[in-house]
Amino acid sequence: MSDPSLADLPELGLVSAKDGASLEALAQLAERCRACDLWERATQTVFGIGPTPAPVMLVGEQPGDREDRAGEPFVGPAGEVLDRALRDAGLDRERIFVTNVVKHFKWRPSGKRRVHEKPTKAEVRACAPWLEAELALVRPQAIVCLGATAAGALLGPDIRVSTLAGTPVASALAPLVMATLHPSAVLRAGGGDATRAAYERLAGDLRLVAERTPDARYRVPD
Ligand code: SF4
Repeated sequence: MSDPSLADLPELGLVSAKDGASLEALAQLAERCRACDLWERATQTVFGIGPTPAPVMLVGEQPGDREDRAGEPFVGPAGEVLDRALRDAGLDRERIFVTNVVKHFKWRPSGKRRVHEKPTKAEVRACAPWLEAELALVRPQAIVCLGATAAGALLGPDIRVSTLAGTPVASALAPLVMATLHPSAVLRAGGGDATRAAYERLAGDLRLVAERTPDARYRVPD
């Protein structure tokens, strides 16, 4: 068999996942993905990380500047907000799978900085088989869409994250599906009451997930 085109790697990854490929094998395959143009300006592919299977899967939009350099999702400022919200909710990140709908960092230059740019629908679509492949491995009891891009990709374009505080979304993807704020929305909220409200929304939704998925909670050592 000839090598598949690098543009076909997401579909190949999905088939491999359904055939029982490991997360490491999928991540290695995704390193060479060229199914959209985002790989060209990114440092590396940032694949999902965490146990497979896992009781909870968190899905963000795309890696940021720090994630692009580190090669891991949610390790920058938004990741710090997420870690705090997980702790406050009683969830153990070590037991949770964390990923993004798009696996390469999309950015534009602004002086010396690389500024986040929202991925297009076509880019989200091109990357979708990787997310589906991760889902096939993780088989989560609960999925949390962090922000509108993740919610749109997994639940459809009509989902309005702002109206869904504390409210699960009916979906065949998992027994519990939530759509909440992206942690970066807490950072962008502007301070004061707005920041507190944004954080409470995120942590409150994660608390509901903790209540319904005991396997993802922190365990107190004996
Ligand atoms: S963003 Fe996704 S589809 Fe596009 S090149 Fe990267 S891994 Fe492939």
